[in-house]
Amino acid sequence: MADILFTHSYFLSLDPKERRAMMPYAPLGTLYACSLLRQHGYSVALFDTLLAEGPGEIIRVLDSVRPKLVVIYDDDFNYLTKMCLSNMRHAAFAMIRFARDRGCRVAVHGSDPGDHALEYLEAGAEYLIVGEGEHTLLELAECLSANRSPSGVNGLAFLRDGKVERSAKREPLHDPDALPFPARDLIDVNRYRALWMKRHAYFSMNIVTTRGCPFHCNWCAKPVYGQVYHSHSPERVCEEMARIKREYTPGHLWFCDDIFGLRPGWLSHFADEVVRRSAEIPFKCLSRADLLLKDDAVRDLKRAGCQTVWIGAESGSQKILDAMEKGTTVQQIYEATKRLHGAGIRVGHFLQYGYPGEKWQDIEMTLRMVKECGPDEIGVSVSYPLPGTKFYERVKKELGDKRNWIDSRDLDPMIHAEYSPQFYRALHRLTHKKFRVWQGMDLLKQSVAAPAIPDRRTLRRIALSAYHALTLPRAAAEVHSLGRAPAGGL
Ligand code: SF4
Repeated sequence: MADILFTHSYFLSLDPKERRAMMPYAPLGTLYACSLLRQHGYSVALFDTLLAEGPGEIIRVLDSVRPKLVVIYDDDFNYLTKMCLSNMRHAAFAMIRFARDRGCRVAVHGSDPGDHALEYLEAGAEYLIVGEGEHTLLELAECLSANRSPSGVNGLAFLRDGKVERSAKREPLHDPDALPFPARDLIDVNRYRALWMKRHAYFSMNIVTTRGCPFHCNWCAKPVYGQVYHSHSPERVCEEMARIKREYTPGHLWFCDDIFGLRPGWLSHFADEVVRRSAEIPFKCLSRADLLLKDDAVRDLKRAGCQTVWIGAESGSQKILDAMEKGTTVQQIYEATKRLHGAGIRVGHFLQYGYPGEKWQDIEMTLRMVKECGPDEIGVSVSYPLPGTKFYERVKKELGDKRNWIDSRDLDPMIHAEYSPQFYRALHRLTHKKFRVWQGMDLLKQSVAAPAIPDRRTLRRIALSAYHALTLPRAAAEVHSLGRAPAGGL
């Protein structure tokens, strides 16, 4: 029995690409909400959908926990949740139905519910928690426990006479350190560990240091935190790292901030604290090319134990970066990649195709950038018009019935893009193939030059790149035929 059953709506089982990649991270945002409610005396339970087979699994949990309130609280720190995938929306609707059938009250929080309030409310959710959610949920729970109307609680949406009514906006939390540590004890950590170890031979956990991002990339949706940027103190983050290290001994951490270490002086202070407390765990984080060139950013990242930095590179065409209002230059991407490599830090490039105005020549520039910079990993996506963005406002008249991807491999531009959805899927495959071939060639050159025999991982990568080289002409021909592009350029 518990007062509140928490869950969230991201199912790895409903996202085949991510299921294949098998890099599961606990729903950190959900765990923050659980810990705050527990701190205020509520008994809480968690149904973690991430590793569940489908929404029907919640029935067994509902029948055993018999909660008064079910909260579908999405993980605001997971970029997969921010994609607002329709598979997950339908799973959320099913869970709402199962909960309501058992007489539970239901509240929902997340990016997609914020964008589709009416649909979630009509599906049976009684309240939507809009914006930063922990304190709204706490006040909502207090009202429901005392049989008071929560209509005066800031940050809620609900139905009144068939229409969506919203209470006043919830102000963001200025000091995230005021929140208790996320309730990782509610997660089946051993199951996560076993999946990671089986697939990758190491175990990675997630942690977050900030909320929000102050930049203005015009396709980037910020339905929960808006344009703010609030940080945990370096001391608090290091205390959490030390706890994680002591209690779970992961071999790796993912700092899942939109932008890691933006505040002036934060990174250097953080690196000092990590060293002072011996809290070091190899980690990956996300940053921007321009920030990585500031002060001693790269040196401080290295001191703190950084293993990989993912850069939101997006495009090798300055014209496209400017159209996106990215605020970075292609030159900065080259320079930041070089500096990170120089410090022995691995680099990932996020790339994005299909932004309005992107032509064949721009695509070639992106491929050239990947070849010349030589990142260690890439992530390829297609511009996705999400509500609340300038990009969405600009293209919304072009949108048809389909306004969300089904799962993360969808890649449908959903607007009148330069090329067809099939083209972008083929380009996605081609980009990965080319990347593997270039990477294999670099590794081969390094292995020939090195005195020692390469390790098994390197040999495997070289062998795989040979396979990709053999299948490359076919992948390129597919892109050319779908895009009616000039042959030979790619
Ligand atoms: S820097 Fe990253 S998180 Fe911030 S607006 Fe741009 S894409 Fe979004």
